[in-house]
Amino acid sequence: MKELILVKYAPEIFLKGLNRGKFEKKLRDNICKKLENIKVEFIHDSGRYFIKTDEIEESVKRISKVFGILEVCVVKEVSIDLDEIKAVSLDKIKKCEGKTFKVKTNRANKNFEMNSMEVSRTVGGYILANYEKDLNVDVKNPDILINIEIRNNYAYIWSNSDITEGAAGLPYGMNGSTMLMLSGGIDSPVAGYLMARRGVEVSCVYYHSHPYTSERAKDKVKDLAKILSTYTERINLYIVPFTDIQMSIIKNCREDELTIIMRRFMMRVACKLAEKYNIDSVTTGESIGQVASQTMDGLIVSDNCADRPAFRPLIAMDKTDIMDISRKIGTYETSILPYEDCCTIFVPKHPKTNPKLEPIIKQEENLDIDELVNVAIDNMEIVTY
Ligand code: ATP
Ligand code: MG
Repeated sequence: MKELILVKYAPEIFLKGLNRGKFEKKLRDNICKKLENIKVEFIHDSGRYFIKTDEIEESVKRISKVFGILEVCVVKEVSIDLDEIKAVSLDKIKKCEGKTFKVKTNRANKNFEMNSMEVSRTVGGYILANYEKDLNVDVKNPDILINIEIRNNYAYIWSNSDITEGAAGLPYGMNGSTMLMLSGGIDSPVAGYLMARRGVEVSCVYYHSHPYTSERAKDKVKDLAKILSTYTERINLYIVPFTDIQMSIIKNCREDELTIIMRRFMMRVACKLAEKYNIDSVTTGESIGQVASQTMDGLIVSDNCADRPAFRPLIAMDKTDIMDISRKIGTYETSILPYEDCCTIFVPKHPKTNPKLEPIIKQEENLDIDELVNVAIDNMEIVTY
């Protein structure tokens, strides 16, 4: 009796109609890439992937981070024989903790002698009769769930403790690309994760204000990009020097409009980089009302200088919800390290919360916008994870 990995993919992929094959292929490719340097045998069988390997634990860890996957289950493969199914199910339940259980059967093989209900009932009865400890059936909310799946050549058995939750979403690379503005904060890594989870390829740009922001602040952003890359494929991080732009704004523009003009430059540089590398859109970690610069007027004025869609996946989320995701994806601990960021250094005493476009454009006439953007990009550093 073998142990192997059964991968269930997100139900959304089943809804893709004629495109389903493309999504399945991409998902399979993405899993294989994640398992690079692990020896595996890969079997695709109507709606399921089966993976045979000697390195089950490490493989499960990696596969569960692939977008488009609902669950990763470590299952026992047995022959299609009711006695064997009963024995293995009993053996399985003995290894689980709990006082109540349920057997759930899925019979893909319609030639099998019993239907799903009959299998569940028969195996459940066998467990009750042969388990020496006190154990009851609970069909609504059991502590232990024994899953049996009967397919054409084999049957598979696993319990709820053999299941690792998948990352859900859609296969990475199926839905275009975006340039994520990645700061060292809590929000932007979450924004990037959410886009990637919907299949959007992510590249990152970080604006670095040397010497006002330290190397440690930069390293923190690199660490965040690295964590993001465990969910995606290779990620490019473009580190763009931002000090000259900020100095020029401070010298030539009104103090209460510094922040919004700076944000517009961030938008311009991100769009320019997107153009340079053929990236469809930009993404930020902004959320409406979260801070003074993220008012409706502020967002509209910074959006105005984008030449492609600017996505803000956190726009309607509360900070606490964003923090929950950040903990779940493993960026929180890095994000809360207390290093300065470029926005906190150049904050005006009374930033405009309701900026209007015309006066801002008037202010920007004092600046050589194209030159500032081009020089910044010419001097950027590129790191790949
Ligand atoms: P975060 O937690 O992502 O830093 P925040 O709540 O601190 O967000 P702001 O500092 O106003 O908010 O930044 C809003 C968004 O602008 C960020 O989510 C990020 O997408 C982008 N951004 C801010 N600073 C930088 C930076 N130095 N480099 C790249 N992008 C940045
Ligand atoms: Mg920030």
